[in-house]
Amino acid sequence: SDTIFGRIAAGEIPADIVYQDDDLVAFWDLSPQAPTHILIIPRKPIATLNQLEDGDAELAGRLLLAAARVAKQVGIADAGYRVVVNCNAAGGQTVFHLHLHLLGGRPMGWPPG
Ligand code: 5GP
Repeated sequence: SDTIFGRIAAGEIPADIVYQDDDLVAFWDLSPQAPTHILIIPRKPIATLNQLEDGDAELAGRLLLAAARVAKQVGIADAGYRVVVNCNAAGGQTVFHLHLHLLGGRPMGWPPG
């Protein structure tokens, strides 16, 4: 993948990685919007949620499980947190490599902006 996240997954660009395995990488967001702001990406370069296919169902599940695991790891699981996927322009997506935002460490407002 030629996105910045593809290059982080490939180890070509440094990131503050909190969890990784064969399928996923989780790392701190460079421009955090909350005291805890971690991004969880598949190594597979899927551009947006729209490109997720039936064959990616297990991978999608692993992404969610990783979000919950990392939330525990960084100590926000019990207080609570938010998981967000921005999709395309109206969703606010800026990096076109699928990612989950794990946000916590402060109360989250609703509706989101
Ligand atoms: P999006 O707007 O696509 O949902 O989220 C992209 C996120 O990636 C933003 O929160 C932005 O701060 C973060 N980001 C962009 N470039 C980098 C980078 O090079 N390293 C890290 N760690 N985060 C990045």
